[in-house]
Amino acid sequence: MKALITDHVNKKLSLVEREQIPSVEEHDDVIVRMICAGVCGTDISILHGKQPGTDGIVNGHEGFGEVVSLHRSANSGENHSLSIGDRVVIQPNQSCGRCESCVKYKNVNCNFCLEHFTYGIHVDGTMAEYAKFKAKYLRRIPKEFKSQNAVLIEPFAAVYHGFKKIQASTLPSHEILIMGAGMAALLWIRLMSYKGFKNITCYCRTESKAELTTNLGSRETISGAINELKTDRKFDLVVDCTGEPKCINWACDNLAQNGTVVIYGVCPEKSRNLSFFDPYKLWTLEGKIVASFIYDDGKEFDEAIETAWEMEKEGLLNLNDFKVGVYSFGDYEQGWDEFVNKKIFKLVIASDE
Ligand SMILES: [Zn+2]
Ligand SMILES: [Zn+2]
Repeated sequence: MKALITDHVNKKLSLVEREQIPSVEEHDDVIVRMICAGVCGTDISILHGKQPGTDGIVNGHEGFGEVVSLHRSANSGENHSLSIGDRVVIQPNQSCGRCESCVKYKNVNCNFCLEHFTYGIHVDGTMAEYAKFKAKYLRRIPKEFKSQNAVLIEPFAAVYHGFKKIQASTLPSHEILIMGAGMAALLWIRLMSYKGFKNITCYCRTESKAELTTNLGSRETISGAINELKTDRKFDLVVDCTGEPKCINWACDNLAQNGTVVIYGVCPEKSRNLSFFDPYKLWTLEGKIVASFIYDDGKEFDEAIETAWEMEKEGLLNLNDFKVGVYSFGDYEQGWDEFVNKKIFKLVIASDE
């Protein structure tokens, strides 16, 4: 079978032919024929050594496919029995179930597990024709969910987690700023707009993405170098998807009273000295800084799937709206080039249905 393997030396993925397809060995193993798998910015950061990950494994933490083989007793994360032919999405983050955090949070918060590991980052993931997962990390999705759109569920769930953190404190009249115009920012815009927020501004360095972000639901786009960016407005909610400390500083400087800054994008590991804000000003504003890493493995991931499904039915989670490129294993090199040269925001590897 074909698979895309992480190659840390050449900072890319290598296409290999593996003789054996994975097989059920333990009672909770499930073999999935992968239909679509996505590459995102996290994969690139890992290949470039900015985040830890394992060399030589099957890449991919995003994906969905069809169950082709399993043990009779295999139960998915919702504790529903899985059957052959089910279409499933992978919740790729695993928690150990033993560490202090897993015990404290009753083993549903993979985001806090001290030994948390991820399919496609630490162990074989989704970018192969067939892949093996533990049943509890698979969620059944409706058969009608269009396959190529279903690949957005995992990145959507991460955005949904961040949204849940600010939902209660964000009012329809609030001024919202989404910083960045990559895949995460676009999903934030679409979700906030779907939830009825109208005053969404998007910040991106160049104006070229204005049409794309407006189509997804932002009212306007501001652009320019962040050091020179000026605005008369104060924002009630700023979601930073750039991971640039200077953007977070700017957000703190342009925050409204009682406003919230969400750190969503991945900041560089050693950004301690790059990040500063005026604590006195934040105090007088009663401003908040909230960080959002990944969804938990409990009800939240399921809730994200339900919301994604509602949006998909209304045509609001359509791959084509997000500048995603879909390629087969055979022509992935071309897709890879487009992705690293930022011509597409996500690379999806699709097999035949
Ligand atoms: Zn991702
Ligand atoms: Zn743990």
